[in-house]
Amino acid sequence: MTRVSYIRNLDSIRQLPESEKRELLPVVERYQFRTNSYYLSLINWSDPNDPIRRIAIPQTGELREFGRLDVSNEHTNYVAPGCQHKYPHTALLLCTEMCASFCRFCFRKRLFMEDNDETAINLTPAIDYIRHTPQINNVLLSGGDPLTLSTRRLTHIIEQLRAIPHVKIIRIGSKIPAVNPHRIINDPDLLDLFRRYSSPTGRIYLMTHFNVPQELTDVSLHALDLLMKAGVVLANQTPILRGINHRPTVLAKLMQQLAVAGVPPYYFFQGRPTEGNLPFALTLVESYHALERAKAMVCGLAKRASLIMSHDLGKIAMVGLDRDHIYLRYHRAREPKNEGLLMVFRRDDSAYWLDDLQQVSSKYRSDGLCTLGDQMIDRFD
Ligand code: SF4
Repeated sequence: MTRVSYIRNLDSIRQLPESEKRELLPVVERYQFRTNSYYLSLINWSDPNDPIRRIAIPQTGELREFGRLDVSNEHTNYVAPGCQHKYPHTALLLCTEMCASFCRFCFRKRLFMEDNDETAINLTPAIDYIRHTPQINNVLLSGGDPLTLSTRRLTHIIEQLRAIPHVKIIRIGSKIPAVNPHRIINDPDLLDLFRRYSSPTGRIYLMTHFNVPQELTDVSLHALDLLMKAGVVLANQTPILRGINHRPTVLAKLMQQLAVAGVPPYYFFQGRPTEGNLPFALTLVESYHALERAKAMVCGLAKRASLIMSHDLGKIAMVGLDRDHIYLRYHRAREPKNEGLLMVFRRDDSAYWLDDLQQVSSKYRSDGLCTLGDQMIDRFD
């Protein structure tokens, strides 16, 4: 059995020069550092731009002013400790503030800060809320990374959710298959848990978080295979990140390898303008171009996902771009009346987020306006 050890101190990383460790002290004082021996072993230390290094190792650019800690105003979604309810059918349980490796670009890095109390150890009020809210048919376990919980604790949560008849789908958002696949391989009880509670009448989905092809090692592929054999449905979500996966060739390779592994891409996210994340930020136009170019290089199975902004108002897809306009559409809306709404904004190549754009017009999909381009603009005008 391969043992993986946690690393919480930059001093333990012998490959990192002493001068760099000193330089990074104020960064780790502000934004916590934590990784593990498996994930570090994937870094090519002779390449200063190694993507896994950029994901796991702090950089001074994180201290540059940018964004907010809770860009999507998640604090407004709580209905019980640790439980957010933003969309009618979905509840989100923040069940831990721990991860197997903290990603430097994390949009929930506020959870790892000392005074944060958004996650809940006692999920009883949250589970009660879900039990008494029949429209919730799927529950997403997140955090933090739920697979850092003990299998016993995870069993307790999943058993309670499975006892609620209207909860059909349980989703687990986890980067464990990428950052510590041994957690899955070494724990037959975890796989038994999935086998027991993922069935044709109620599936468990694992939303993986592979950012770059280098994370799809043989060990990771083995862990993914075990999950699939245990009846878990897999799909991947990743933000598009400067210096990590923003090159179309890298994205295309990731998409294709994920499709081959049976983990189709689900969401590509526009990075939220979160504090500390300037080094990873891409404008909307840059992300759109990167993804569209990557899509042109892969087969249909690899490119079903679209570019999504997880905004306070809902999940908003960037669906088109021309010389003068950016076209967005609600994929999920906080306000049901906005579901499917198509919106046109003035093109702004410096915009990172919806809030940076100036709206021209909007129209509901029910009006039959699903096509993009000049014809639609005429009708809007
Ligand atoms: S694994 Fe997910 S929650 Fe944890 S640091 Fe990375 S992005 Fe954030």
